[in-house]
Amino acid sequence: MEKGRLGRTNLIVTKMGWGGIPIQRVGEHEAVSVIRAVVEMGVDLLDTARAYTNSEHRIGLALQTIDRPVILSSKSLVRTAKIYNEVHESLKQMKVKKINIYHLHGVSNFEDYTRVMAPGGAYEGLKRARDEGLIDHIGITSHSLNVLERAIEDDHFEVIMACYSFLEPEAAEKVFPLAKGKDIGMLAMKPFSGGVIEETGPALRFVLSTANIVPIPGSETLERAHENWKIFTEGYSLTDKDKERIEAIKKEFDRQFCRRCDYCQPCTEKINIQFVVGLKSIIKRFGPGAQEVGWMKALIEKARNCSECGECLERCPYQLPIPDLIKENLAWYDSLKNQ
Ligand code: SF4
Ligand code: SF4
Repeated sequence: MEKGRLGRTNLIVTKMGWGGIPIQRVGEHEAVSVIRAVVEMGVDLLDTARAYTNSEHRIGLALQTIDRPVILSSKSLVRTAKIYNEVHESLKQMKVKKINIYHLHGVSNFEDYTRVMAPGGAYEGLKRARDEGLIDHIGITSHSLNVLERAIEDDHFEVIMACYSFLEPEAAEKVFPLAKGKDIGMLAMKPFSGGVIEETGPALRFVLSTANIVPIPGSETLERAHENWKIFTEGYSLTDKDKERIEAIKKEFDRQFCRRCDYCQPCTEKINIQFVVGLKSIIKRFGPGAQEVGWMKALIEKARNCSECGECLERCPYQLPIPDLIKENLAWYDSLKNQ
């Protein structure tokens, strides 16, 4: 089983970590069994977030029954120095004294980035937590490659987390080489593009065969956890058949898949377009009750202000019919209330 050094954190981790979004979808008992199994198989790094509802709590329950040390990674959407209180909450939920990596979660644009890095911003709160020994390393996660490039150039972070899959391979061109050059640890989220890719073999082998990164596929069932582990341990070079499937799936999604690049921004109504365009898969991944999560509801309500001005259409390099997709997804979301 391949292990490697996570950049300048000097943490040694299995080349495959684990992501804590999917375990929100299942019952507590099953979630705890999956986390235990994943760690017992050999996975070293568990990633979660304050925003993933019960995920930190469930990891905390599982850790009570696990003997070997694991590397924990969590994150918060809070943008001010009050993120320090979020670190305390994460520690409480996971019942630990220290979290190895804590990220600024989903810093989506330069405005957001300036805010977190300003005096009184979230970066300051995380530095305080690090100085007090509550966390070891500060990271940043973003769906925007431009933000990650800037963060790497500014060199304040020890770890970055980028979206990476064969449907969203762009990080491999610029972000990963830049981060490697500065010895920054690299975590790769969404190897299945947020549940869009259903063929796990080619998807996982694609990300695992990329050098220097640690992908963090999640799993909500034991079956899925074992399947991912089998792919990881049995060698993950892409086969000719994988390459064929990847090309076929890419063609299939070409005109409907949001790459979360944010080139469509800024929206005149300040709508988080990539969130609303990807709403169905996000809610599917978060599981029952996701539509009641506060931060999601706020983004959804904001999307109702779409004036159909069409400005975003000109900017989307993939020609996605954004206003239509927003309308369609809001109608789908509203229909959930009647189910
Ligand atoms: S069409 Fe809607 S989503 Fe696009 S820029 Fe205008 S208001 Fe924003
Ligand atoms: S809608 Fe288009 S431009 Fe906007 S994030 Fe998605 S792919 Fe990028």
